Amino acid sequence: MFWWQEDAGDGVRVAFTDRAAGNLALHTGDDPQSVRARRAVLEREMGVPRGTLLFLDQVHGTDVVDADAPDRPQVPRADAAVSAGATPLAVMVADCVPVLLAGTSPAGPVTGVAHAGRRGLLEGVLERTVDRLRARGAERLRAWIGPAVCGACYEVPAAMQADALRHLPAAAATTRHGTPALDLPAGARDVLGRLGVAVRTPQGGPGPACTLENEGLSSHRRDPASGRIAGLVWRSAAGERAA
Ligand SMILES: [Zn+2]
Repeated sequence: MFWWQEDAGDGVRVAFTDRAAGNLALHTGDDPQSVRARRAVLEREMGVPRGTLLFLDQVHGTDVVDADAPDRPQVPRADAAVSAGATPLAVMVADCVPVLLAGTSPAGPVTGVAHAGRRGLLEGVLERTVDRLRARGAERLRAWIGPAVCGACYEVPAAMQADALRHLPAAAATTRHGTPALDLPAGARDVLGRLGVAVRTPQGGPGPACTLENEGLSSHRRDPASGRIAGLVWRSAAGERAA
């Protein structure tokens, strides 16, 4: 179910699912009823009320949705979300970088998720998410960078690599075969570090954190039918009491 999870302190829990939780995306051609049933199981495992976990309609953009806004769509079209309330947040990936964020505020925990693929990362999805978290009063921001395709596996055309490195030199990488590549997790770490966010890269889950190398995780590059795993951040019972 969970590839990795921990109590992040300050009343917040963070986790990344593995393929044992099943495909969690509605947009990959899977049976919608099955996907909804898996999401309900996931909510039960997380200990959050059924139907409250917010999934996004991710489009490789940089829009950040306020999960607490009463007028937001049920499935917002956005690649990031923030909550200063009790809304549990999910971000779906299969090679792109799932980033979880948490900070503290006088009113309780402030949480966020971001879908950082090549395009979103270069176009500023992490900067915009951190801005929104701070606008909601978040201090002492921390980030968890979850399983994604690694720099030794993510081969790209030379021109694409050159273009990316103009914006984000920290993403420079070479595949095992010596061809041009991008290290998106390293790029995300660099962006977050420059924003003053303390970054943690979870280790110790079963198998490598590279989605392409680890068959227990979803990888679009290895198998377009492998579905989507999710990064999750939510308030634990302790967080609810504190708020
Ligand atoms: Zn790899």
